[in-house]
Amino acid sequence: MPDPIPPAEQRDGFRFRGGHRALDFVATLAARLKPVPRDLLAVPGDVERWLVAAGFASGAGATEADLFTARRLREAIHDLAVARIAGEPDPAEARADLNAVAAGSVAAPQLDPTGGLAWQGNAAGLLGEVAREAVLLFGGAQALRIRQCEAEGCAILFLDTSRAHDRRWCSMAACGNKAKVAEFRRRKRSAE
Ligand SMILES: [Zn+2]
Repeated sequence: MPDPIPPAEQRDGFRFRGGHRALDFVATLAARLKPVPRDLLAVPGDVERWLVAAGFASGAGATEADLFTARRLREAIHDLAVARIAGEPDPAEARADLNAVAAGSVAAPQLDPTGGLAWQGNAAGLLGEVAREAVLLFGGAQALRIRQCEAEGCAILFLDTSRAHDRRWCSMAACGNKAKVAEFRRRKRSAE
């Protein structure tokens, strides 16, 4: 039996395998490589749920406009990541979209009475924060570590923080395991 997917990788129906919030946001379009992808951000409430699952604690008050911004931001991050992985120049439209959201509404990180981190702001401000984290990622040294899962049919992006920079799968428990099983079957077949 393959290992179950660790709970940390799956929260409230969303996948968090990327090791970076901005890359995880791209996974809200599920089955991206299939003829009919599944948009997990279908209504404004889904944006609120993702923001909570992503660790912001509150994503209150998402509107239809926020849903539109969320999808635009998501595809901008996707297009930039795919271009970087391919060694191509940043697509101008994606860069403009990302920068626009990053320069928009602000949510403030605050220290709460217990010494923990609490975000103060609405959904628009928190989406702005996701965009700013994406800008810092693409504009920084870690941009060279952005990868796309090598499993067939999987488009999930992740940040390769492995020491040898040789991580191939979005999730060892999911895609890595499937690939190992497939490789085992291939070897067994060729030995028969
Ligand atoms: Zn994968």
